[in-house]
Amino acid sequence: APANSKPRLDISLCAPRGFCAGVDRAVQIVELAIERFGAPVYVRHEIVHNKYVVESLKAKGAVFVEELAEIPDAERERPVIFSAHGVAKSVPAEAQARNMFYLDATCPLVSKVHKEAEIHYRKGREIVLIGHAGHPEVIGTMGQLPEGAVRLVETEDDARTFQPAGDRPLAWITQTTLSVDDTKAIVDILRERFPDIVAPHKDDICYATTNRQEAVKSVAPLVDAMLVVGAPNSSNSQRLREVAERAGCPVAVLVQRASEIPWGTFEGISRLGITAGASAPEVLVEEIIGAFADRYDVNVETVRTAKETTAFNLPRALREQAAE
Ligand code: SF4
Repeated sequence: APANSKPRLDISLCAPRGFCAGVDRAVQIVELAIERFGAPVYVRHEIVHNKYVVESLKAKGAVFVEELAEIPDAERERPVIFSAHGVAKSVPAEAQARNMFYLDATCPLVSKVHKEAEIHYRKGREIVLIGHAGHPEVIGTMGQLPEGAVRLVETEDDARTFQPAGDRPLAWITQTTLSVDDTKAIVDILRERFPDIVAPHKDDICYATTNRQEAVKSVAPLVDAMLVVGAPNSSNSQRLREVAERAGCPVAVLVQRASEIPWGTFEGISRLGITAGASAPEVLVEEIIGAFADRYDVNVETVRTAKETTAFNLPRALREQAAE
C-alpha cells in the first residue's frame, strides 16, 4: 500500500469563479484612495460582501459605516467611498450637502441599470424591479427615483399578483446577481400577463453572475458535492449554491473560510466541485483546497465554461495614481 493512506478526492474547480470586474474595481478604489489620501478612508457599507476583503481593507486604514451620518463632522474632510452595490440618489446628495468628498465604487453594470430605470421613468413607464427586498443593490436602484416609481417583484407569486398602479406602460429591470433561471420564470409570467412590458436591451443580470452559474451547472452533475466560497449575505454566492442543488448536486454548501468547512457533510465523497462568488478572493479558494489536501489525496482539475475579459476604468480622481 502507498505510504499516503489519505482517501482520494477529485476536485473540479469551476471557472470562471470569484472576483468579477466590478468587485476588482471597487477593492482597487479603496486601496488607491488610502494610498493617495492616507488613512482613514471611509467606506459606506461593506465595499463588497466579503468579510475577509473588508477585514484586509480595515487593516490598511478603511473605516466601514452603514450610513454617512455615522461619519463625525470633524472627519468630513476624509474621502468616503460608496460600495459596489450602488446607492440611492439621496446618498450622494447627503454627501454634497455635508461638503464631503466621495468616490463612487458602484459597479458600472449596476449604474447601467440605474440609467435604464431613469429612462423608463422619463418615458412615463411604471417600473417593475425583479430582485430581493432589503439587498443594498435593490435599495440603491429603487432609490434612483421617487418613492413608488419602482415596484419590487421578488417571486413568481409576486409576478402573478402584481397590480400596476395606473395604466402607464410597464417595463422590467432586475438586480444584477439573480438566478438566471428564476428570473426567466418571473419574466415569463409578467410577459404573459402584460404582453407589452418593455424588456432591457441587454440582460441586467451581469456577465459575471451568468458565467459563474453556467460553470456550476456544468460541474454539478459530475460531482458528489459542491462547495461555494462566499458570504451568506452575498446574493450571487447564494444563487450559486442554489444552482448547484437544482442541477442535481446532492450536497451544496456555502463556506466563507476553511475553518467553516462542514467535514461531516463531505464524508464519503470522492468528487467535489468548488466555485467562488464574485466577491470571494482566490486566496480563500486556495485556503480551502489546502484544507482538503490535508485530509485527502487531492487531484485538482479546472473546468472552464467561459473566458472573461471585462475590466472597468477607475474613477478619474484615482486614474492618474494607478498609472504611476
Ligand atoms: Fe458588477 Fe456583476 Fe460584479 Fe456585481 S457581480 S459587481 S454587477 S460585475
